[in-house]
Amino acid sequence: MEELQRVGVLYTSKHAKHDMSQPILALKDISVRFNGAPALDKISFELNRGERVAIVGPNGAGKSTLFNVISGMLHPNRGRVDIYGRKPGRHICIAYVPQRSQVDWRFPVNVSDVVMMGRVGKLGLFKWPKRKDWEVAHQSLELVGMDHLSKRQIGELSGGQQQRVFIARALAQEAELMLMDEPLTGLDAQSQESIFEILDKLRRRDVTILVSTHDLNQAAERFDRLMLLNRQIIGFGQADEVFTPELLNQAYSGQMRLIETPAGAMFLGDTCCSHGER
Ligand code: ADP
Ligand code: MG
Repeated sequence: MEELQRVGVLYTSKHAKHDMSQPILALKDISVRFNGAPALDKISFELNRGERVAIVGPNGAGKSTLFNVISGMLHPNRGRVDIYGRKPGRHICIAYVPQRSQVDWRFPVNVSDVVMMGRVGKLGLFKWPKRKDWEVAHQSLELVGMDHLSKRQIGELSGGQQQRVFIARALAQEAELMLMDEPLTGLDAQSQESIFEILDKLRRRDVTILVSTHDLNQAAERFDRLMLLNRQIIGFGQADEVFTPELLNQAYSGQMRLIETPAGAMFLGDTCCSHGER
Protein backbone atom coordinates (compact mmCIF):
# COMPACT_ATOMS: atom_id res chain seq x y z
CA MET A 1 0.00 0.00 0.00
CA GLU A 2 2.75 2.44 0.97
CA GLU A 3 4.58 1.53 -2.20
CA LEU A 4 1.47 2.32 -4.25
CA GLN A 5 1.00 5.61 -2.44
CA ARG A 6 4.61 6.50 -3.09
CA VAL A 7 4.20 6.09 -6.83
CA GLY A 8 0.90 7.97 -6.67
CA VAL A 9 -1.37 5.07 -7.61
CA LEU A 10 -4.05 3.91 -5.22
CA TYR A 11 -6.66 1.23 -5.63
CA THR A 12 -9.50 3.18 -4.11
CA SER A 13 -12.05 1.05 -5.88
CA LYS A 14 -11.96 -2.48 -7.17
CA HIS A 15 -13.27 -1.23 -10.52
CA ALA A 16 -10.88 1.42 -11.75
CA LYS A 17 -7.41 2.39 -10.64
CA HIS A 18 -6.88 5.95 -9.54
CA ASP A 19 -3.82 7.99 -10.34
CA MET A 20 -3.92 10.43 -7.44
CA SER A 21 -1.43 12.75 -9.10
CA GLN A 22 -4.14 13.57 -11.69
CA PRO A 23 -7.19 15.86 -11.18
CA ILE A 24 -10.36 14.18 -9.94
CA LEU A 25 -12.04 15.21 -13.21
CA ALA A 26 -10.52 16.38 -16.47
CA LEU A 27 -12.37 16.89 -19.77
CA LYS A 28 -10.43 17.49 -22.95
CA ASP A 29 -12.02 18.71 -26.16
CA ILE A 30 -15.38 17.00 -25.61
CA SER A 31 -17.91 17.34 -28.43
CA VAL A 32 -21.35 15.72 -28.65
CA ARG A 33 -23.74 15.87 -31.59
CA PHE A 34 -27.32 14.64 -31.74
CA ASN A 35 -28.46 13.95 -35.30
CA GLY A 36 -25.76 16.28 -36.55
CA ALA A 37 -26.69 19.16 -34.22
CA PRO A 38 -23.97 20.13 -31.72
CA ALA A 39 -25.01 19.77 -28.05
CA LEU A 40 -21.49 20.24 -26.66
CA ASP A 41 -18.61 21.78 -28.55
CA LYS A 42 -14.92 21.45 -27.54
CA ILE A 43 -15.45 21.38 -23.78
CA SER A 44 -12.24 21.30 -21.74
CA PHE A 45 -11.89 21.88 -18.00
CA GLU A 46 -10.55 20.35 -14.81
CA LEU A 47 -11.97 20.17 -11.29
CA ASN A 48 -9.95 20.24 -8.10
CA ARG A 49 -10.64 17.75 -5.36
CA GLY A 50 -13.19 19.02 -2.84
CA GLU A 51 -14.43 22.03 -4.78
CA ARG A 52 -18.07 22.93 -5.44
CA VAL A 53 -18.81 24.10 -8.96
CA ALA A 54 -22.10 25.32 -10.46
CA ILE A 55 -23.00 24.97 -14.13
CA VAL A 56 -25.41 27.59 -15.40
CA GLY A 57 -26.82 28.09 -18.84
CA PRO A 58 -30.19 28.28 -20.62
CA ASN A 59 -32.40 25.29 -21.40
CA GLY A 60 -30.82 23.17 -24.08
CA ALA A 61 -27.32 24.45 -23.20
CA GLY A 62 -26.05 20.88 -22.80
CA LYS A 63 -25.93 20.66 -18.99
CA SER A 64 -27.58 17.23 -18.73
CA THR A 65 -25.60 16.00 -21.74
CA LEU A 66 -22.40 17.03 -19.96
CA PHE A 67 -23.39 15.04 -16.85
CA ASN A 68 -24.21 12.02 -19.02
CA VAL A 69 -20.77 12.19 -20.63
CA ILE A 70 -18.93 12.56 -17.32
CA SER A 71 -20.79 9.66 -15.75
CA GLY A 72 -19.88 7.46 -18.73
CA MET A 73 -23.50 6.92 -19.81
CA LEU A 74 -23.04 8.79 -23.09
CA HIS A 75 -20.01 8.44 -25.36
CA PRO A 76 -18.89 11.77 -26.81
CA ASN A 77 -18.22 12.06 -30.54
CA ARG A 78 -14.85 13.59 -29.72
CA GLY A 79 -12.55 14.18 -26.79
CA ARG A 80 -11.90 12.37 -23.54
CA VAL A 81 -12.97 12.35 -19.92
CA ASP A 82 -10.59 11.27 -17.19
CA ILE A 83 -11.41 10.57 -13.57
CA TYR A 84 -8.12 10.56 -11.69
CA GLY A 85 -6.41 9.88 -14.99
CA ARG A 86 -8.70 7.00 -16.03
CA LYS A 87 -11.72 6.75 -18.36
CA PRO A 88 -15.19 6.92 -16.77
CA GLY A 89 -17.60 4.01 -16.82
CA ARG A 90 -15.83 1.71 -14.44
CA HIS A 91 -15.67 4.11 -11.52
CA ILE A 92 -17.89 3.67 -8.54
CA CYS A 93 -16.48 6.86 -7.04
CA ILE A 94 -18.87 8.93 -9.22
CA ALA A 95 -22.48 9.37 -8.14
CA TYR A 96 -25.09 10.90 -10.39
CA VAL A 97 -28.15 12.52 -8.88
CA PRO A 98 -30.41 12.82 -11.96
CA GLN A 99 -32.78 15.62 -12.86
CA ARG A 100 -36.04 14.88 -11.01
CA SER A 101 -38.08 14.86 -14.18
CA GLN A 102 -35.96 11.96 -15.49
CA VAL A 103 -36.93 9.61 -12.66
CA ASP A 104 -40.06 7.46 -12.66
CA TRP A 105 -41.36 8.15 -9.17
CA ARG A 106 -44.13 5.52 -9.41
CA PHE A 107 -41.49 2.81 -9.27
CA PRO A 108 -42.41 0.79 -6.17
CA VAL A 109 -39.32 1.00 -3.99
CA ASN A 110 -38.91 2.32 -0.50
CA VAL A 111 -36.34 4.81 0.74
CA SER A 112 -33.87 2.29 2.18
CA ASP A 113 -33.98 0.25 -1.05
CA VAL A 114 -33.01 3.34 -3.04
CA VAL A 115 -30.12 4.05 -0.68
CA MET A 116 -28.98 0.41 -0.76
CA MET A 117 -28.76 0.67 -4.59
CA GLY A 118 -25.78 2.92 -3.88
CA ARG A 119 -24.00 -0.09 -2.36
CA VAL A 120 -24.38 -2.31 -5.43
CA GLY A 121 -21.03 -1.19 -6.85
CA LYS A 122 -19.26 -2.12 -3.62
CA LEU A 123 -21.21 -5.34 -3.14
CA GLY A 124 -21.29 -6.66 -6.67
CA LEU A 125 -24.60 -7.67 -8.23
CA PHE A 126 -26.65 -10.52 -6.69
CA LYS A 127 -24.86 -10.42 -3.36
CA TRP A 128 -26.79 -9.83 -0.17
CA PRO A 129 -25.98 -6.67 1.77
CA LYS A 130 -23.91 -7.31 4.87
CA ARG A 131 -24.21 -5.64 8.25
CA LYS A 132 -21.65 -3.00 7.18
CA ASP A 133 -23.75 -2.12 4.10
CA TRP A 134 -26.88 -1.60 6.20
CA GLU A 135 -24.86 0.53 8.60
CA VAL A 136 -23.51 2.73 5.80
CA ALA A 137 -27.01 3.05 4.30
CA HIS A 138 -28.46 3.99 7.69
CA GLN A 139 -25.70 6.54 8.39
CA SER A 140 -26.22 8.07 4.95
CA LEU A 141 -29.94 8.52 5.62
CA GLU A 142 -29.15 9.98 9.02
CA LEU A 143 -26.78 12.51 7.49
CA VAL A 144 -29.52 13.83 5.18
CA GLY A 145 -32.10 13.71 7.99
CA MET A 146 -34.27 11.03 6.35
CA ASP A 147 -33.72 7.96 8.55
CA HIS A 148 -37.20 8.28 10.08
CA LEU A 149 -38.76 7.80 6.61
CA SER A 150 -36.69 4.78 5.56
CA LYS A 151 -39.71 2.53 4.95
CA ARG A 152 -41.70 5.06 2.92
CA GLN A 153 -42.29 4.57 -0.80
CA ILE A 154 -40.09 7.00 -2.73
CA GLY A 155 -43.07 8.30 -4.74
CA GLU A 156 -44.84 9.46 -1.56
CA LEU A 157 -42.12 11.93 -0.59
CA SER A 158 -41.90 15.63 -1.35
CA GLY A 159 -39.42 16.88 -3.98
CA GLY A 160 -36.92 18.01 -1.37
CA GLN A 161 -37.14 14.69 0.48
CA GLN A 162 -36.64 12.71 -2.75
CA GLN A 163 -33.60 14.80 -3.53
CA ARG A 164 -32.18 14.08 -0.07
CA VAL A 165 -32.74 10.33 -0.56
CA PHE A 166 -30.78 10.48 -3.83
CA ILE A 167 -27.98 12.30 -2.04
CA ALA A 168 -28.05 9.56 0.63
CA ARG A 169 -27.70 6.96 -2.14
CA ALA A 170 -24.62 8.80 -3.42
CA LEU A 171 -23.22 8.89 0.11
CA ALA A 172 -23.83 5.16 0.57
CA GLN A 173 -21.83 4.66 -2.61
CA GLU A 174 -19.00 6.55 -0.86
CA ALA A 175 -18.75 8.75 -3.94
CA GLU A 176 -15.87 11.20 -4.27
CA LEU A 177 -17.40 13.07 -7.19
CA MET A 178 -21.07 13.95 -7.09
CA LEU A 179 -22.91 15.11 -10.20
CA MET A 180 -26.24 16.77 -9.43
CA ASP A 181 -28.50 17.84 -12.28
CA GLU A 182 -30.76 20.68 -11.16
CA PRO A 183 -31.15 19.40 -7.57
CA LEU A 184 -32.64 22.71 -6.43
CA THR A 185 -35.20 23.21 -9.20
CA GLY A 186 -38.75 23.14 -7.89
CA LEU A 187 -37.76 23.09 -4.20
CA ASP A 188 -38.97 25.64 -1.67
CA ALA A 189 -36.42 27.87 0.09
CA GLN A 190 -36.29 25.67 3.20
CA SER A 191 -35.67 22.47 1.21
CA GLN A 192 -32.99 24.25 -0.79
CA GLU A 193 -31.34 25.33 2.44
CA SER A 194 -31.33 21.76 3.74
CA ILE A 195 -29.63 20.60 0.52
CA PHE A 196 -26.93 23.26 1.04
CA GLU A 197 -26.44 22.09 4.64
CA ILE A 198 -25.79 18.59 3.28
CA LEU A 199 -23.41 19.98 0.64
CA ASP A 200 -21.50 21.73 3.45
CA LYS A 201 -21.15 18.41 5.28
CA LEU A 202 -19.87 16.81 2.06
CA ARG A 203 -17.31 19.58 1.70
CA ARG A 204 -15.89 18.54 5.05
CA ARG A 205 -15.49 15.03 3.59
CA ASP A 206 -13.66 16.47 0.56
CA VAL A 207 -16.38 15.35 -1.86
CA THR A 208 -16.15 17.21 -5.18
CA ILE A 209 -19.53 18.51 -6.33
CA LEU A 210 -20.74 19.60 -9.76
CA VAL A 211 -24.28 21.03 -9.76
CA SER A 212 -26.38 22.50 -12.56
CA THR A 213 -28.76 25.26 -11.55
CA HIS A 214 -30.98 27.96 -12.97
CA ASP A 215 -30.44 30.30 -10.04
CA LEU A 216 -27.55 32.57 -10.95
CA ASN A 217 -27.60 34.56 -7.71
CA GLN A 218 -27.44 31.39 -5.63
CA ALA A 219 -24.70 30.02 -7.88
CA ALA A 220 -22.64 33.17 -7.35
CA GLU A 221 -23.09 33.09 -3.58
CA ARG A 222 -22.79 29.41 -2.73
CA PHE A 223 -20.24 27.87 -5.12
CA ASP A 224 -16.45 28.07 -5.40
CA ARG A 225 -16.43 28.40 -9.18
CA LEU A 226 -19.02 28.87 -11.91
CA MET A 227 -19.25 27.54 -15.43
CA LEU A 228 -21.34 29.48 -17.90
CA LEU A 229 -22.35 26.99 -20.57
CA ASN A 230 -24.13 27.21 -23.87
CA ARG A 231 -22.82 24.31 -25.92
CA GLN A 232 -19.40 25.87 -25.38
CA ILE A 233 -17.86 27.09 -22.15
CA ILE A 234 -18.56 30.82 -22.26
CA GLY A 235 -16.85 31.46 -18.92
CA PHE A 236 -15.39 29.49 -16.01
CA GLY A 237 -14.13 31.03 -12.78
CA GLN A 238 -15.23 33.37 -9.99
CA ALA A 239 -18.58 35.17 -10.20
CA ASP A 240 -17.06 38.58 -10.97
CA GLU A 241 -15.13 37.14 -13.91
CA VAL A 242 -17.97 35.02 -15.30
CA PHE A 243 -21.18 36.90 -14.61
CA THR A 244 -20.34 39.96 -16.66
CA PRO A 245 -23.03 41.52 -18.87
CA GLU A 246 -21.03 40.53 -21.99
CA LEU A 247 -20.65 36.87 -21.10
CA LEU A 248 -24.22 36.56 -19.75
CA ASN A 249 -25.51 38.10 -22.94
CA GLN A 250 -23.45 35.68 -24.97
CA ALA A 251 -24.78 32.67 -23.02
CA TYR A 252 -28.40 33.72 -22.81
CA SER A 253 -28.52 35.67 -26.08
CA GLY A 254 -30.30 38.65 -24.63
CA GLN A 255 -32.81 36.68 -22.49
CA MET A 256 -31.06 37.84 -19.31
CA ARG A 257 -31.43 41.20 -17.61
CA LEU A 258 -29.29 42.70 -14.90
CA ILE A 259 -31.21 44.95 -12.49
CA GLU A 260 -30.10 46.98 -9.49
CA THR A 261 -32.04 46.39 -6.25
CA PRO A 262 -31.44 47.74 -2.72
CA ALA A 263 -29.87 44.35 -1.95
CA GLY A 264 -27.47 44.64 -4.90
CA ALA A 265 -27.46 43.57 -8.52
CA MET A 266 -29.81 40.75 -9.50
CA PHE A 267 -30.04 38.68 -12.62
CA LEU A 268 -33.49 38.19 -14.07
CA GLY A 269 -34.54 36.04 -16.95
CA ASP A 270 -34.15 32.47 -18.12
CA THR A 271 -37.69 32.21 -17.00
CA CYS A 272 -38.25 28.64 -17.20
CA CYS A 273 -37.04 25.37 -16.41
CA SER A 274 -36.87 22.21 -18.29
CA HIS A 275 -39.57 19.68 -18.89
CA GLY A 276 -42.33 21.78 -17.38
CA GLU A 277 -40.81 21.95 -13.92
CA ARG A 278 -40.45 25.15 -12.01
P1 ADP B 1 -29.91 21.21 -20.68
O1 ADP B 1 -29.79 20.11 -19.68
O2 ADP B 1 -28.90 22.29 -20.53
O3 ADP B 1 -31.31 21.79 -20.75
P2 ADP B 1 -29.59 19.06 -22.59
O4 ADP B 1 -28.24 18.50 -22.35
O5 ADP B 1 -30.76 18.31 -22.06
O6 ADP B 1 -29.62 20.58 -22.13
O7 ADP B 1 -29.81 19.19 -24.16
C1 ADP B 1 -28.87 19.82 -25.02
C2 ADP B 1 -29.36 19.71 -26.46
O8 ADP B 1 -29.26 18.36 -26.90
C3 ADP B 1 -30.81 20.10 -26.63
O9 ADP B 1 -30.95 20.74 -27.88
C4 ADP B 1 -31.53 18.78 -26.63
O10 ADP B 1 -32.72 18.84 -27.38
C5 ADP B 1 -30.52 17.85 -27.28
N1 ADP B 1 -30.60 16.46 -26.78
C6 ADP B 1 -30.35 16.06 -25.52
N2 ADP B 1 -30.46 14.73 -25.39
C7 ADP B 1 -30.79 14.27 -26.64
C8 ADP B 1 -31.04 12.98 -27.17
N3 ADP B 1 -30.95 11.88 -26.41
N4 ADP B 1 -31.35 12.89 -28.48
C9 ADP B 1 -31.40 13.99 -29.28
N5 ADP B 1 -31.18 15.23 -28.83
C10 ADP B 1 -30.87 15.39 -27.53
MG1 MG C 1 -31.07 19.38 -18.23
